[in-house]
Amino acid sequence: MERPLHRKLPRVLRMRAVVFREGSQWKVEDVQTPTPGPGEALLTIVKTGVCGTDEHLLHGGFIATFPLVPGHEMVAEVAAHGDGVTWPAIGTRVVVDNTVFCGECSACRRGTQLYCEKFISLGCNAPGGFAEQVVVRASKLYPIGDLDPDIAVFTEPTACAMHGVDVLGLSPASDVLIFGAGPTGLILAQLLRMAGAARVTVAAPTASKLALAAQHGAAHTVQMDRSNPRAALDRLRTIAPEGFDAVVEATGSTAVLESAVSLTRTGGTLLVYGLAGENATAAIRPYEVFSRELTIKGSFAQANCIGRALFALQSGVVSTQGMITSELGLADFGQALDNLKDSAQIKSVMVPQL
Ligand SMILES: [Zn+2]
Ligand SMILES: [Zn+2]
Repeated sequence: MERPLHRKLPRVLRMRAVVFREGSQWKVEDVQTPTPGPGEALLTIVKTGVCGTDEHLLHGGFIATFPLVPGHEMVAEVAAHGDGVTWPAIGTRVVVDNTVFCGECSACRRGTQLYCEKFISLGCNAPGGFAEQVVVRASKLYPIGDLDPDIAVFTEPTACAMHGVDVLGLSPASDVLIFGAGPTGLILAQLLRMAGAARVTVAAPTASKLALAAQHGAAHTVQMDRSNPRAALDRLRTIAPEGFDAVVEATGSTAVLESAVSLTRTGGTLLVYGLAGENATAAIRPYEVFSRELTIKGSFAQANCIGRALFALQSGVVSTQGMITSELGLADFGQALDNLKDSAQIKSVMVPQL
């Protein structure tokens, strides 16, 4: 049977998209549907996950450029091909690797694409998926087969967590502490066990999220009352009196980062994974890093981890059960922003068809 390589597009199509503008302004706008150029595909969004990074972007943080159509955790269907594109076929359901690297800068030529000087991240400094349609390079698409879109929508956050795990480079049978039980903390807990953690402890403020962390393999969960973090820190010291081999800060809180240092075992590693404000500072005693030979690492995004992340979700070794707590139409994006501050919410997903 012959498959259409190109679907004819009407001359000017309009679509709805969430648009961020200078001054922390956003609204749903009627914009022109993008046209796929050579090597690109036009995708119809099935659903796009909302991430804490989106809020940082709204306020001009991370790598935001305005006006911006945000949304970087996309599940979509191939709607049309640009010139030269034959794969994936029209109608194929895919997840998107939202990173674009120039391939020519010094970092790219050293094989460290994530540090590309012209790093583009769809949904951060180029149009993303809080829209009815988006244009993406066909080479950045990953068909998901019959994987449930509610699971596939976690591919990008899983890929970022996967990169964090790569950066951390755990030894087998490590004792690991994660601060944060949002989608990232819950996914990290599972990936870290796979990567060699004999025991994962999760510390976070919300009891229901900690219950989910336990369900996803955390051996210990510790509730951190923001007004009295000391009690939780004492409890963590009881669990690992010599400190944890690795501590992952996945909240973006500088106070948590400061506490994380003393909870790291001598010779251990602290991973800064959470997104703090660009000008936020944390007080760390250099003498402690020096005398206890601590390693401090950072992890901010992912490069080339989407394939492995998708496999982790398809094979079921990473479970996202119970993590989607809200599905919203584009007009309700304000609710999605509110949900980021609501401790009962885990992951909101935007569904343009709603
Ligand atoms: Zn994200
Ligand atoms: Zn580059």
